[in-house]
Amino acid sequence: MENKLNFEYCDNLIEEFERVIKNPIKEKSSVYYTGVDLGTACVVLAVLDENYKPVAGAYRYADVVKDGMVVDYIGAIRIVRELKKELEEKLDTELLYAAGAIPPGTDSLDSGAIKNVIQGAGFELTCLLDEPTAANEVLKMKNGAVVDIGGGTTGTSILKDGKVIHVIDDATGGTHFSLVISGAYGMEFKEADKFKRDYKNHRELLPVLTPVIEKVGSIINNHIDKYEVNEIVLVGGTACLTGLEKVIEKKVKIYTHKPKNPLFVTPLGIALSC
Ligand code: ATP
Repeated sequence: MENKLNFEYCDNLIEEFERVIKNPIKEKSSVYYTGVDLGTACVVLAVLDENYKPVAGAYRYADVVKDGMVVDYIGAIRIVRELKKELEEKLDTELLYAAGAIPPGTDSLDSGAIKNVIQGAGFELTCLLDEPTAANEVLKMKNGAVVDIGGGTTGTSILKDGKVIHVIDDATGGTHFSLVISGAYGMEFKEADKFKRDYKNHRELLPVLTPVIEKVGSIINNHIDKYEVNEIVLVGGTACLTGLEKVIEKKVKIYTHKPKNPLFVTPLGIALSC
């Protein structure tokens, strides 16, 4: 049997990143690389130093992107600019270079919008790549599937010999999970989303969310059955839900696992590509 992916590199990088979000590293670097991840639910900036080590990071929940498309262009620029400024103040430096990523299935028009948001916020754009390729900069998977369960969508990518050979995005993600919670608990959407993000509530939420998680499992099944996939890695904020990987594994019947904090895999991968 082929060795399954070990998350040592990925988990170490994420742990360092979580540390520097709270306590940025102020030691001077000759150059800084920033990854800008513009998501449906969350905008994340990850800053690496000249050795590609995390030194700072910031994120904000926002509604500036829907299904991979920038719908609030001015709002997106404002948020990226504010996060950039916040990080510059913390690091006492100017952040010049940034990379960005486009979700699978996004057309060239929207890749232009993402580019313009990053440039509009004052960065020099060094690279624009697709999200699965960015995620795999951190995961380093050779063969299998990477499934990115984000806010609005689930992106399934098939990897062969370390290269993304097929990607597809479906409009089911964490937003739908929050809608289920909102209905079940009679909460406003924002409150339901916050409740869902709290790890303390995951045990209670898993049975409530099992049908929607199984739907994600069916989506994955539909896309991977044409390929030889022996392993699935979950990334994206929704993959943070404790126990979700077991429900998916049961549905898909393929070994499924995830790194420590799946929310930060893609932003770090974008920064590494800068
Ligand atoms: P998309 O990829 O669809 O454009 P995005 O990039 O904004 O969206 P992510 O930032 O990967 O998506 O994930 C956001 C989703 O993850 C939201 O629905 C959010 O509620 C959910 N999420 C974040 N943290 C947690 C957590 N700890 N537990 C459960 N869900 C979480």
